[in-house]
Formats: sequence, structure tokens, C-alpha cells
Amino acid sequence: MAQNHTQDTVTIHWFRRDLRLSDNRALTAAAAQGPVVPVFVLDDEVRGLGAASKQRLEMSLAALAADLETRGMQLILRSGRATDVLLQLAQEVGAKSVHWSRAYAPDWVARDTEVKAALKQTGLSAESFEGTLLFEPWTVQTGQGMPYRVYTPFWKAVRSRVVDAPLRAPDLKPPSVWPQSETLSAWGLSKDMRRGAAVVAAHVQAGESAAQAKLSTFLEEKVVAYQAARDFLDRAATSDLSDALTFGEVSPAQLWHGGHRAMQQGAAGAEHFLKEVVWREFAWHLLWHFPQLPHANWRDGWDQFEWSEDPDHPHFQAWCRGRTGVAVVDAAMRELYITGKMHNRARMIVASYLTKHLRMHWKLGLKWFADCLIDWDPASNAMGWQWVAGCGPDAAPYFRIFNPDTQADKFDPEKTYRRRWFSHKDGEGSATAQTFFQAMPVSWEARFAHPQMQPIVSLPEGRARALAAYEAFKTQ
Ligand code: FAD
Repeated sequence: MAQNHTQDTVTIHWFRRDLRLSDNRALTAAAAQGPVVPVFVLDDEVRGLGAASKQRLEMSLAALAADLETRGMQLILRSGRATDVLLQLAQEVGAKSVHWSRAYAPDWVARDTEVKAALKQTGLSAESFEGTLLFEPWTVQTGQGMPYRVYTPFWKAVRSRVVDAPLRAPDLKPPSVWPQSETLSAWGLSKDMRRGAAVVAAHVQAGESAAQAKLSTFLEEKVVAYQAARDFLDRAATSDLSDALTFGEVSPAQLWHGGHRAMQQGAAGAEHFLKEVVWREFAWHLLWHFPQLPHANWRDGWDQFEWSEDPDHPHFQAWCRGRTGVAVVDAAMRELYITGKMHNRARMIVASYLTKHLRMHWKLGLKWFADCLIDWDPASNAMGWQWVAGCGPDAAPYFRIFNPDTQADKFDPEKTYRRRWFSHKDGEGSATAQTFFQAMPVSWEARFAHPQMQPIVSLPEGRARALAAYEAFKTQ
């Protein structure tokens, strides 16, 4: 039987931060051309991720491979320079084109530009598609054609935009012969988790189906009360989808359309949810236009501000280890270490405490987060740290100093969140508190039955010193 030529055209889909089958425009376009070879490349960009990110990625890749298998497909794993791997693979499978979903961090863009040029040089077609953001960062501009620097006008500029409806997972056709693949176990992506991969894994639901289930539960049960409840540390009132979004197990368009449906059905908190999703877009907009965001103070003049940059400073070490003596800070840092996540309100509290009360540079906190967070995202992390530190894109850039105790009283009124991470007076404690003491390195020298310690810096003293430093900085 004569075969349609286009049906034999193999396309490589290069999975990166789009580890899903539904609403994946690059994959759907590849499937429309004929057989697809899905590949994930372990290159220096991936090797350079933080320990928790790599573990989370490993879990996501395992889930994606299983999803592909149920459709008679395979996820090919190859390690090396992306350009070399893709050229080699294209030759092996006779591919004519390579597809991927666009990524926007400066080093990812540099890599993709190099890959595109190399593929084109050898006569292959290289096509990148939207899929990791709602709006391409360069398409949102002020009336003067400039990037936005403040969130609210950015929100107003995008809130009425039309976002294409999410796509169903395409039917996938395998190649006639599968190329060889490396294995996830040989890659050992979780080997940098010195506390053991199982500790964080116990708190993760990886994969596209898990993300879709979370989104449905959120829209059915939680979005109504989202605005009122999202700041409470002791309630699971948010979507908990940030790690799934980071690795693309769910698309932002799926959240956007789900949020809009909820809004039309009258769910009070839905618009606020969309606003939070747009904070992620704003972070990527900023990183696209200000690629130095993770490395340099965003606001002019802040290089003169006196922060300690010493990673061995005992105050920084105490903060990382959840041993500052400020209960909500310590609880949040323990939550981060054990679950790979931290409540958004808690992120603001610990970031403010580190940069204000302890006067440590935001870059140290950013780096610790990058190593510990399973939802680490270079844009949201950098924006979050600079915003809280006072040198970032805050619409009201006054020297905001959160009082951790006041915040805790307001957002953890029953002390439920704090108790979750502490032993009780008699040495007993919740299972979560016990996990922390079992998982932390022996060198941290804390014991489960230790009483709550005194603050390493009293809150009034820390606040006064932070304000004095700010006054001195302003008059420079
Ligand atoms: P929901 O409240 O359900 O919100 C839905 C989605 O909107 C989130 O999944 C997230 O993608 C986005 N979103 C919500 N709040 C923010 C925000 N303030 N900034 C950007 N996007 C937001 N988020 C990350 O995904 N990765 C990071 O590395 C990261 N680092 C942060 C560091 C600091 C210092 C701070 C203050 C915030 C950081 N955030 C980061 C933002 C925020 O804390 C998390 O996105 C949020 O806690 C995720 O919980 P959720 O999925 O339940 O969010």
C-alpha cells in the first residue's frame, strides 16, 4: 500500500519544561506531521539545577514516561550538549524537524538559539511554540512601548486578553524503530538530596494526572474562599500547583481557563486566583526584560546597601537550619527542608526576616531557596526575593519590615502551623516535626527534644538595626 509521505516524517519533540501531553502545542504540531520521538536531554542546564529541583524533575520524568508508555510510546533519555544530542538523534531516527515549547530564562534562550542555528545549518527544521507562559513577554508593553515595571498596570494590560483554549492530548504515532535510551536510574537526578529522596517525595504528587486532579479539586472546593483564605499558614487554601507549573505538568492556559470558568460561575475568589497566576507572568516579563534580575539589585543605588554576603555567617546558617528562635521562621524553614515547598506568606516572612532583621543579602536566601524548592523558578524566585528585600519591583518601595510574630498571630492564630514543626514540651511532637529532626544533617546539632530556643536577634533590636541601616543608606 502506498504510504502518505507526510505520515512517515518523524519529528522529535524535545521535552523541557512542558512535561505533559495535553495542551502542548509543540507536541500536537509534531503529532500532526507523523511519528514522534519524544526526548529529554540531560545537559548542563539540567545538571546545574538545585538538589530538590532535580529530584522533582526525576519524578516528573518518570510520570511522563509512564503516560507515554500507556500510549505505546517511549520517552527517550539522552545526556550531553543539547545541540549534539538532537543532531545525533535526528540522524538516527531520520527526523526532519525538532519541536519544543519556548523557555525564557536568559541561559535557556542562549542554548535554544544555538540549537536552532545548528539544526537549521544541517537542513533540519527547528520550531519553537508557546506553552510555558500565557503571554509572550515581549507582547506586553506600556503605551510607550516599554516593559512594565509595576504589577498592577501589567495585570490591567493582560486581564482581558484572549488565551487560546487548552488542547487535548494528541494521538501519538511511534517511529518504526525506537532509538536507544539512557535510564533515569543511571542519571541519579536525586542523588544530591542528602536528606534522602524519600523525605521530600512523601510530599509530592508528580505527573500530569496528579496536576489535573489538584486543579479540579481546587476549582471545585477551594477557589470560592481563595481570596480570604490564601494567606493563612494553617490552611491548605491554595492550588498547590507551583511545582507542576514549573515543570509544565499543567499549562498556565489550563489554570487561566479553569479560573475564568469559575469566575463565570460566580466563584468569589476566582479573579484573585487569576491575579496570582499573572504574578508568575509578571515575574517572567521582568526576567525577560531585565535578565540580571537573579544576580543584581533591580533598583538603582542598592549596591551601596550594607548586607552581609557571608554564607558561613552564623545568622545565615541558623536561618537555613530553622534555628533562629523565631517560631514562625523556624517552622517555615523546616517546612521547606522537608516538603520542598513553603507557603507564600511564609516565604515573605522568612525573606523579610533574613534581609531585614538579620541583614543578610537576598542573594544568599535566593540560592538556598533554589537548592531546596521543588517549584524553583528563576523568575518568581528572583522577583520574590528582590520584592521583599526592598530593592525590587514593589509599587510601594518603602522599607517594609514584616514582624514575624505579628504575622504569625494573624495568619496562624491557633499556632497549628508552628506546632506542626516543633516538639512539644514533653519531647513529643507531630510526625512532621519528627521527620525534620530525623532528616537534617547531624552537623546541624539540634535535637528533637530541645526546648524552643531564644531568638538569635530580638525582633525589636533587629527591626531597629534594619531601619538604621536604611536611614544611613538613604542619606548616602
Ligand atoms: P496559588 O496561590 O494557588 O497561586 C497559583 C499560581 O500562581 C502559583 O502556583 C504560582 O505559579 C503563581 N503565583 C502565586 N503567587 C505568586 C507570586 N507571589 N509570585 C509568582 N507567582 C505566583 N514561586 C514559584 O513558583 N517558584 C519560586 O521559586 C518562588 N520563589 C519565591 C520566593 C519568594 C521570596 C517569594 C516571596 C515567593 C516565591 N514564589 C515562587 C511565589 C509563591 O510563593 C509561590 O508561587 C506559591 O507559594 C505557590 O503556591 P500555590 O501553587 O499554592 O499558589
